[in-house]
Amino acid sequence: IICLFGYFSTQAQSSKIPSSVENVEKKVDSVLSLMTLEEKIGQMVQYSGTWDLTGPASGDKNQYRKEQLKKGLVGSMLNVLSIEATREAQKLVMENSRIKIPLMIGYDVIHGYKTIFPVPLGETASWDLEAMEETARISAVEAAADGVNWTFSPMIDVSRDARWGRIMEGSGEDPFLTAQVAVAKIKGYQGTDLSDPNTIAATAKHFAGYGFAEAGRDYNTVNVGDNQLHNTILPPFKAAAKAGVATFMNSFNDLDGTPATGSKYLQREILKGDWNWDGFIVSDWASIAEMRDHGFAEDLTHAAEIAIKAGSDMDMEGGAYETGLVELLQEGKVDEELINDAVRRILRVKFKLGLFEDPYRYSNPEMAEKIDFQEHRKVAREVAKKSIVLLKNEKSLLPLASSVKNIAVIGPLADDKNTPIGNWRAQGEANSAVSILEGVKNAVGKNVKVTYAKGADLGVGERSFLKPLEINTTDKSGFKAAVEVAKKADLVILALGEDAFQSGEGRSQVNIGLAGVQKELMQEIYAANKNVVLVLQNGRPLEISWAAENIPAIVMAWQLGTESGNAIADVLFGKYNPSGKLPVSFPRAVGQEPLYYNQKNTGRPSNPTDVTYSAYTDERRDALYPFGFGLSYTTFEYGDLELSSEEMDHNSEITVTVPVKNTGKVKGKEVVQLYLRDMVATTTRPVKELKAFELVELQPGETKEVKFTITEEMLQFYNADKEWASEEGEFQVMVGGNSRDLKVESFRFN
Ligand code: BGC
Repeated sequence: IICLFGYFSTQAQSSKIPSSVENVEKKVDSVLSLMTLEEKIGQMVQYSGTWDLTGPASGDKNQYRKEQLKKGLVGSMLNVLSIEATREAQKLVMENSRIKIPLMIGYDVIHGYKTIFPVPLGETASWDLEAMEETARISAVEAAADGVNWTFSPMIDVSRDARWGRIMEGSGEDPFLTAQVAVAKIKGYQGTDLSDPNTIAATAKHFAGYGFAEAGRDYNTVNVGDNQLHNTILPPFKAAAKAGVATFMNSFNDLDGTPATGSKYLQREILKGDWNWDGFIVSDWASIAEMRDHGFAEDLTHAAEIAIKAGSDMDMEGGAYETGLVELLQEGKVDEELINDAVRRILRVKFKLGLFEDPYRYSNPEMAEKIDFQEHRKVAREVAKKSIVLLKNEKSLLPLASSVKNIAVIGPLADDKNTPIGNWRAQGEANSAVSILEGVKNAVGKNVKVTYAKGADLGVGERSFLKPLEINTTDKSGFKAAVEVAKKADLVILALGEDAFQSGEGRSQVNIGLAGVQKELMQEIYAANKNVVLVLQNGRPLEISWAAENIPAIVMAWQLGTESGNAIADVLFGKYNPSGKLPVSFPRAVGQEPLYYNQKNTGRPSNPTDVTYSAYTDERRDALYPFGFGLSYTTFEYGDLELSSEEMDHNSEITVTVPVKNTGKVKGKEVVQLYLRDMVATTTRPVKELKAFELVELQPGETKEVKFTITEEMLQFYNADKEWASEEGEFQVMVGGNSRDLKVESFRFN
């Protein structure tokens, strides 16, 4: 059989096997039938490859691992960096092992590989699904040429807590928007045919609940019931499964008493059962082993038993499967069919990737040479400008008028070339982004003077993934010079926010204001010059109430990647009219967190400013800037909603028509958003939920009739009978340019 199919040929271009589903299944079965139990378990093991694969392995552990690779007892590696190291790892397997099953090489390609795009939360603010698909496509091309055939992206954990550092890696607080982004990303990474060596396998992570960590503390317990699990957390994962994502990653957290990694309910019943998904689940880093720390497993072997029974197929760097599975099978505690199922799933993805045809197809120097990085940079600039959200624009400071002849660029992030690269930067080089100062200088003509002062450092010491930045809370020695620069300028561009490594994994914070001395710097600069445009670069919503009240113009620029400064300048100088909208609510105070628009009414719903009911006594309860919010250099006016009918049933739909007019002087793009509310149901329902959106571009004075179709599917939810179904009754439909200011109509579903 081996020779017949030519699976194990180490030659490239060996056979041209049609990759139909049936064929893949046959091939998987025939390979499986050749494997020993040990080899099968080996496929379920994933090692990290940060150690030197090319040289002699140093240390007992590395030596041991090299031997395991040679024996074909490793299914995948992650963090194997460079073409050479990838080829070397693959060679160890292909030239030494008995049955030569190629490795999958995984890596966190989160928002670009070498060309860096906005961090996912920022990119989501573009609401531009095509653009998001394109950046995933480019990431795949760059990563694939460097040996990577599997990315641990997209992260589609809905998150409503700005304290949680990883909010930056997802698409914010809304399940529908997150699901749309998930599908776009998966399409981008995986293309239409995974066997194309320019595509890579994607991962839907983290399954599930990770974004609901209590108090926003990373890895923390998640206490949500079935209602919230199904209605809020799972929809993006369901969409990912449906879109054919190759793999899932489970999650570190305990979900209502069971670590997600050990949850049979999530993995076997829902994902592999109800959703009938045929890919494989990789654990999160050592999350199988960590079930000991959860007090859920006695030892590694016990952890392995729980995880395999729950449906985790591959053990990332945890050593549990490697240590425990053989023994568990011998003792009859684990059935070999469970192992066969896991291995089948893993082999299936390997076949789809075309690895059996050519194990080296992903580390092909010729492919690397063909990459057009210049073209990728252009895309990076396009998507970066689309991701910018204009939060405030009083005194018409923006776009900057041609009368502004003397611009001061001030702040710790003004000439920062590292922050825009963000966390989870793959192979994006440190300090490689265009800074704001550079972007402004590139944009202005010779007769505009640009001055610069840092004002203060955001932090001191090393900035890296491994170590959070030590924030500067005392050194204000640069203030004076910055104030002088501000005084002399017509206008100040003030660049504040977060360091690249202030958000991300393990970067939760109890304070989400402007860290260190930044707020004081802002106040002193504002006292010296009232024409301040605040440009914020951060990975999470920040508490910026003082700025919102005082600073006339605020631009939310996230961490926008390689072309950051140029994209920001495009917006500041009006070359691009901002169109981004917030994918997450910005709070008035950190104590409001978790904060999100799609909340439920209490029994005492009050108006947001009324403190006697469910508001706070010392703060309003609504967001400072709500979900879906973002200004433009033009204005849009929404007309009344017109419904094609006031009733619908299982066999009909309603068309909603809304006229949207550009009432300003420049052309602009608007994200028209449609929300629904189920007025009375068998479970309580949110006061509004995003169900559709459309990007429209309008010339000055132009009106477009935007049409949405309300389908029964949009009315469905996980109800009291634990079914995904629609229920009869009254609904509200709301349309507008953000989740707060909406035109409302009603209809009945029979
Ligand atoms: C993270 C995952 C990531 C993995 C591999 C874990 O710590 O939670 O999101 O994919 O490491 O780097």
